[in-house]
Amino acid sequence: MCSDFRVTEGTGSEMHALISELYPICRSITGNGFRRTMEIIRKHIPIEICEVPTGTRVFDWVVPKEWNIRDAYVKNSKGEKVIDFQKSNLHVVNYSTPVNGGFSLSELKNHLFTIPEHPGWVPYRTSYYKEDWGFCLSHDEYSKLEDGVYEVFIDSTLEDGHLTYGELCLPGERSDEVLLSCHACHPSLCNDNLSGVSLLTFAAGAIASLPRKYTYRFLFIPGTIGAITWLCLNGEKASKVRHGIVVTGVGDAGPLTYKKSRRGAAEIDRTAVQVLKDSCRDYKIVDFSPYGYDERQYCSPGFNLPVGRLSRTPYGEYPEYHTSADNLEFIRAQDLEGSFSVLMEILFALENNGTYLSTNLKCEPNLGKRGLYSSFGPEQLAMLWVMNLSDGQNDLLDIVERSGMGFRDVLRAANLLAENGLLENRASACSPINQSSPQAQGPTEGK
Ligand code: ZN
Repeated sequence: MCSDFRVTEGTGSEMHALISELYPICRSITGNGFRRTMEIIRKHIPIEICEVPTGTRVFDWVVPKEWNIRDAYVKNSKGEKVIDFQKSNLHVVNYSTPVNGGFSLSELKNHLFTIPEHPGWVPYRTSYYKEDWGFCLSHDEYSKLEDGVYEVFIDSTLEDGHLTYGELCLPGERSDEVLLSCHACHPSLCNDNLSGVSLLTFAAGAIASLPRKYTYRFLFIPGTIGAITWLCLNGEKASKVRHGIVVTGVGDAGPLTYKKSRRGAAEIDRTAVQVLKDSCRDYKIVDFSPYGYDERQYCSPGFNLPVGRLSRTPYGEYPEYHTSADNLEFIRAQDLEGSFSVLMEILFALENNGTYLSTNLKCEPNLGKRGLYSSFGPEQLAMLWVMNLSDGQNDLLDIVERSGMGFRDVLRAANLLAENGLLENRASACSPINQSSPQAQGPTEGK
């Protein structure tokens, strides 16, 4: 499914299929839904499933009690279920405490949530850090509720347990790491979180079978508290992160959006910008802000890791966000695949960036006598750029930025010049990735 960091056509359908498998599970920031999700991912890639006990202090936070739910409903006075968790896990406010009792309609309404402007959709609500209970339903169904006594039942537990997360490390030639992180704590929501989960599962499967310079670390964590927990318990690993991307919301039809790291001009930021420019796709670049997903934690000043974020339409800017309309129809295989391709292209550029020194700093070498001069075209122009800027100071990314050429074109020229003794590799401690690397195996093969 992936060779030379290029994504094979059709992978988007496999990504969509994994999302369909994960979609029905009631996930939360802790609990068995999150564990089941990790076990399904482990059928594709060998993640380690880590458990951190309730009560563990993690910087200014504490790992919360573990939440699990088996069933929940609201019945009207005729005994009919008017809200049913079995139909959609979004119907229960995530982290609801157990309830079993009768409530008048006005009492019940204090615990009901709807979206009046989208009366057919069910909202997604949580109450992680305040013990409470509630139900979410469409405004249409809400409007039909009649006066009377309602039977409310939530069969949940909120007890000491664990926070679960999944981690996979793929060692490379260097101990320097690329961190790829997604949150996996949302229940039946596709773009906001399952698209990122699926993309990183497939990316890990692809990278596992490619030769690589960097060590890759994949994190499948509950949002916010998961990143805080991982950073608190893994300071040593965090110090090795040279580049990183938070991946989420990558399955909708909107333009690809890269949010820069707090550093703003880190190599990952510059690489992502150039790859998107060269991708022939619609894209947007946004500056860092201390609001969003787990980049907030990775880019907190005490870490200040070079971690950006890859999404499509940013969260909160599409009406389906955090509603039942963020479903299997909202995300499309071709958009998942396009996001996957861009991520892999960014990683390819990171892997192959390096600094060269021209062996002919005083005037151009004679390309003709080496058989490198044909009719003047883009390849010739790329060689001129690489020879001119390879003074030992500029890396290939600098040359891409100044020439406006694509990374692969510049790399091809550099490789050709190096093969002909016209360039020396300066800063890259290992050989560039072989462009004719063996055919990679998909993550689902051989399981
Ligand atoms: Zn969300």
